[in-house]
Parts: sequence; structure tokens; C-alpha cells
Amino acid sequence: MPRDPVCGMDVDKDKAIKKKIGDRTYYFCSQSCANVYEQPEQELKAMKRRVAVTLMGVVAVAGLRVLALFGLVAVLMTTTLIGGLSIYSLALFIVSTPVVWIAGWSIIHGAYSSLRNRAINMDVLITAGVVAGWAFGAVNAFLPNLAGGGEGYLEIAVGILAFVLLGKYIEESIRRRSAASIRKLLELQPTIARVLKDGKEVEVPIDEVQVNDVMIVKPGEKIPTDGVVIAGYSSVDEKIITGESIPVEKNVGSEVIGATVNKAGLLRVKATKVGEETALAQIVHLVEEAQASSAPVQKFADRVVGKFVPIVFSVAAVSFAYWYIVSGFSTAFFVLLAVLLIACPCALGIATPTAILAGVGKGAEYGILLRSGEYVEKARKLKTVVFDKTGTLTKGEPSVTDIVVYNGYSEKDALKLAAIAEKGSEHPLAEAILKAAHQSESNIPDAESFEAVPGRGVRCTYENRRILLGNRRLMQDEKVPIEQLEKDLDRLEGQGKTVMILAVDNQLAGVVAAMDTAKENAVEAISKLKSMGLEVAMLTGDNERTAKAIAEQLGIDQVIANVLPWEKVNAIKKLQSEGKTVAMVGDGINDAPALAQADIGIAIGSGTDIAKETGGIVLIKDDLRDVALAVELSKKTMTKINSNLFWAFIYNIVMIPVAAMGLMNPIFAAGAMAISSLTVVSNSALLKLSTFKFEKFNDQTKK
Ligand code: ADP
Ligand code: MG
Repeated sequence: MPRDPVCGMDVDKDKAIKKKIGDRTYYFCSQSCANVYEQPEQELKAMKRRVAVTLMGVVAVAGLRVLALFGLVAVLMTTTLIGGLSIYSLALFIVSTPVVWIAGWSIIHGAYSSLRNRAINMDVLITAGVVAGWAFGAVNAFLPNLAGGGEGYLEIAVGILAFVLLGKYIEESIRRRSAASIRKLLELQPTIARVLKDGKEVEVPIDEVQVNDVMIVKPGEKIPTDGVVIAGYSSVDEKIITGESIPVEKNVGSEVIGATVNKAGLLRVKATKVGEETALAQIVHLVEEAQASSAPVQKFADRVVGKFVPIVFSVAAVSFAYWYIVSGFSTAFFVLLAVLLIACPCALGIATPTAILAGVGKGAEYGILLRSGEYVEKARKLKTVVFDKTGTLTKGEPSVTDIVVYNGYSEKDALKLAAIAEKGSEHPLAEAILKAAHQSESNIPDAESFEAVPGRGVRCTYENRRILLGNRRLMQDEKVPIEQLEKDLDRLEGQGKTVMILAVDNQLAGVVAAMDTAKENAVEAISKLKSMGLEVAMLTGDNERTAKAIAEQLGIDQVIANVLPWEKVNAIKKLQSEGKTVAMVGDGINDAPALAQADIGIAIGSGTDIAKETGGIVLIKDDLRDVALAVELSKKTMTKINSNLFWAFIYNIVMIPVAAMGLMNPIFAAGAMAISSLTVVSNSALLKLSTFKFEKFNDQTKK
């Protein structure tokens, strides 16, 4: 069932109000919710007007009451017009009627739409209270004999409405402030780009920039759209996207992100993405989507509400009957109103959405994208964090460190043959070998045939020789005896190096060892995760000894090595079958299946390619510490959800018996209801302010 992004209520797809905004359709329970979403400014103004009207109503009603008390209008009160209608009652009626029906119209209409949707939202309960109060007051004014007398109903109707509308107005303005922050990001995109056309610089509106256009970006200017540097050298402030305030160096070949600020040099940037495709647009898109999503705990809240409302109606009916018998209609009616209003579980509907709104928004500021409320909840149960090794814990840019040769090959020949074999491969190890070979050999010939063997290595033929380069498994598959080099393998792997074995025509020719360096913050990130009580594991296709050596450097105790690429999913499944909630951290491209299998997939370092990722959490920066931050943020958000649920429920649970016992004025009930919603909304908004702690944590890890 789709969810109303404003009030958080589940709505029926067929009966809801549909609005197509951009390329997505949103569903709303009522026109007023749709208005809030579509034209937040106007709606907020309209809300303000309604509050003003009701408050004037309250003043007028209270004024009449004061006059009556001082006996100044005693004459008016006792002077009856037609039937039993006093001038005082008439005045009250004249004041309260427009207040109820004009200022209260949005709520009355909301109740109508909600009933048509066969859902009961807070508008229904409020409308029941306000309209019943007004109607009964009106009958009482005109036909006191018929209604059985009693007064104060019209005042109550106005008072309830005043509280509710004021509460809604404050709630909406707080909520708007947190929702608007992410939209504001889009406004930070420049509107004009300076593009090279036929060798001349021309200024064009950003919408007209096309992929492959060359843009000129001067120091101090914002980069108009995502692209790649083709000339120049500079440092760029990417804070808006990554939350990182230290500028990043850029030279030819570097990717740059639209809306980030060019600090120092003149850059020529070739546009690679425009419009909706840019990183910024995608981030806004994703964050909005996540903010509209809900956590599974919301389903629980919804179920409770579903059961709660009928119970409330029964309690209201029973107490009405009781009080009718005991002390007559007018008391019974008061009790009925009080019960209906105090029971309204309205704060429950916003408990989860407002917390997620705040948590997701907060994350976006730090370059941490939580893609759905679902992950916020899973993070609480998180037990094990699995890191992919290459490209995630390490930089993924290994370089050749050792070459050992056998059977009369020279180091130079061995490296050249290895390079020929790797020429067709895109593996980071292949790049390392090619780079090393290029230092002594400017021209590496092509192999006659080439085959990559995933998780094992490469095979090729060159000048009628069969060249194999890869790990033990490849040699086993090809029946190349490797006993001869066990000692060298031991030594090199013990140093954390990845060793590739070279065989020519099934005879050993040499080993090439390459070493990848750990990322800067890996050690801190891992120790932080461990201090949070989490297990940390490393998953890799590399051999056990190399993997263990690296794990030891990083402080990781659990190593899952020798895993073929397609087996990574099974490794995750195995941990899950032990009853663990597992997060998998990967660089997002080759780890996609494992990220999807994990309870929480965390894609790291995906500054520009956000949409491609399968991760439930996307870390834009390439900083491993953000893994711990993301977990912390999710947990904080979840704590908020729980405390919100508490605040939403506690009023109802404590107050319903009080109201049923006839100890509560309906106006007070309306006030309590408004306060309950406000508590929830401000409790969520507090998450936005928790910056201080969040940053303090950041500082700690920097040391
Ligand atoms: P990882 O999980 O660390 O990213 P892979 O699954 O890609 O590793 O590869 C596992 C192992 O297979 C590597 O450690 C290496 O020994 C071998 N291998 C894979 N591809 C190649 C290649 N192109 N050249 C040499 N060895 C390779
Ligand atoms: Mg990898």
C-alpha cells in the first residue's frame, strides 16, 4: 500500500488522491495533505490564516463569557428572542459557526476524504469532536428545550479547533524545516555554465549543457555539472556532496561533481552527466525517497492504530452510555468528546516518519545516504560487519614488489610474459603488472588468445607458448607442480603480498608479488566498530595467508579467504544462517550480489555513481570511518523512533481512563493531543541538533 508522504498514513491506491510530481506518482489521503506536499509555502500560509481566525474566535467567545460574568450583558442573556434563543446564545452561534466551518474546513474535508478511503485518521476524530460540539451547541441555542439545556458546547468546539490548528501549524513548520534542507541542495547548483563553442567561451544556461561539452571553470566558481577534468590542476571543495571540508586535489582525468567549488586553478571539464543524472540530483532524489519510506516498525504502529481506533470508539460509547444514565445527556456528551479527542493516535502516525526524515537528512549532510527506513531498523540488530578486501579496505591499486624467477628465466622476461598475459585483463593486479612492465619495456605485444579465469588468474598463448598467470588454484587446475616455490610463496604471503605464479608451457617461470596498501582510516574505523561491540570480518578472493597478514595489520580477527567472486554471496548467507544480522561493505561494483544479500549493504566511495549501487547505505566519501558513523546514525534514528512511539502512546494510555471517568474537559483533551504531536515532532527535530556529538565522534576518530 502506498504511503501518504505528509501524514504517513497508508492509503488505498485507487481511492487516494494521486499527484504526479516529476517522474513519480505520490498518493495522498486528502487534498490538504496533497496541498502541503505540492505547495508547502501557500499551505503554511493558509494554516496560519486558519489559526488566526480560530484565535480570534477564541478571543470573541472568551470576551462574551467575561461580559456575561460581569453581568454587563445579563439583560441580553435573559432577553429571549424567538423560542428560547437568547441574544447571548445567538452571538456565540454567530461567532463560532464561521470559525468551525471556515477555519475548520480543511480538517472536516480531510475527515471526509479519509472516510472515503476507509481509513480513520486524526481528522475524523477531531471532526467528530468539533462538529458534534458545534451541532449540539447550535441545537441547544435555538431549541434549548429540545436539547435538554446545558451550555458551553460552542465554546468547546472553537477551543478544540484552536488547539488542533495551532498544533498542526507548529508541527508543520518544524517538519518543513527538516524536509526543506535537502531540496535546498539543488538550489546550490549554478544556473550558468561557461562552455567552449568553436573555440570561444560562451555562457549558457545550465539546462543547455550537453554531455561532452567542455566547460571552463575559474577559481572560486562552482563546477556546473558532473564531469572529468581534461586540462588544469586545482583543488575542489566537495563539502556539499561529501560533507568533507578538506578540498580534494584534481588534475587531468579526475572526476568532478557538479555544484562543488573550484578553489584554486583554472579547470577545463568535459561534462559527463547533466540534469537528473548528476550526483547532486540523484542524492536529492534518493534522500527524498528514503524520507518518504518507512521502517518496518511503522507497520507495527499502523497495526496498533487499526486495533486502537475501534477500541476507542467502544470505550467512548460505553462511557457515554454510563454517564447518560448517571447524570444525563450533557455530561455524557462532554465525556464522549473528551474520550474521542484524547484517544486520537495522531502522534503515532508521525512518530516514525519524522524520525526518519530527520535521520536521513542528517546523514545526507555527511555524505551518508540511508536509502530506506528499513536499514535504520536493521542497524540496531547488527552483529557482524564484513568488509571486502580489495578496493574497500585497501586502495585497490596494488603495485609489484618482488619478482622471483625459476628455470633460467630472467626477471625482465618473466615480467614481460606476465604483462602479455595480463594485457587483456581489467583486474587491479593486471594493472600493477602492466605498470611495472612498462618501466623497462615500452611495447608489450598482444597475446594470440586470451582468457580471464575469475578468482584464479589469466591464460593466454603467445608465440605458440601457453602462458598461465594466477594463484595456486589455477596451477592446480592446469596440473602445474608448484612444490618448488612453496618457500617463496610462504615468505611473500606472510608479508601480506598477493603472489601470482607464472608458468610457461606448464613449467614454472617465476612469481610476481604485488602489494596493495590499506586505506588511511581503516585501522581507526575497525577499532571503532569493535568498540561498538560488533564483529568485523574480511572477505576476499585472495589466499588465506596474504589475507591474514593484512587482517592482522588492520586489527581484523575473522578472515574469509579464497572466496570465488560468485561465492561471496554464500559467505554472507552462511553468517546469516548463524542468526547474525550482517552488514557487507564493498566498493559497490563487483560486490553487488553480496551487498544485496547482506541485511545491510554498504557501498563505499561512490561519489558520482550513486544510482548504480545496490547498497542500502551509500557512503559517498571513500572514508571507512563513515561505516561506523552510518551505524551510529541509524541507531540514533531508531532510538528516536522508539522514544517517539513512547511519547505518542503515553498520553493516550494514561489519559483515556481519566477522560472516560469524566474528569477531563474536552478542550484539555484537544490540548493534550496537540502537545503529544508536538513532542514527537520536536523530539525528531532534536536529531538535527545532535550535530555536536556526531562531530565529536568524528574528531575522536581523526586522532
Ligand atoms: P578480491 O576478492 O580480492 O577482489 P578476486 O576474486 O578478483 O580478488 O581474485 C582472487 C585471486 O585470484 C587474486 O588474489 C589472484 O590471486 C587471482 N587473480 C584473479 N584475477 C587475476 C589476474 N587477472 N591476474 C592474476 N591473478 C588473478
Ligand atoms: Mg574487490
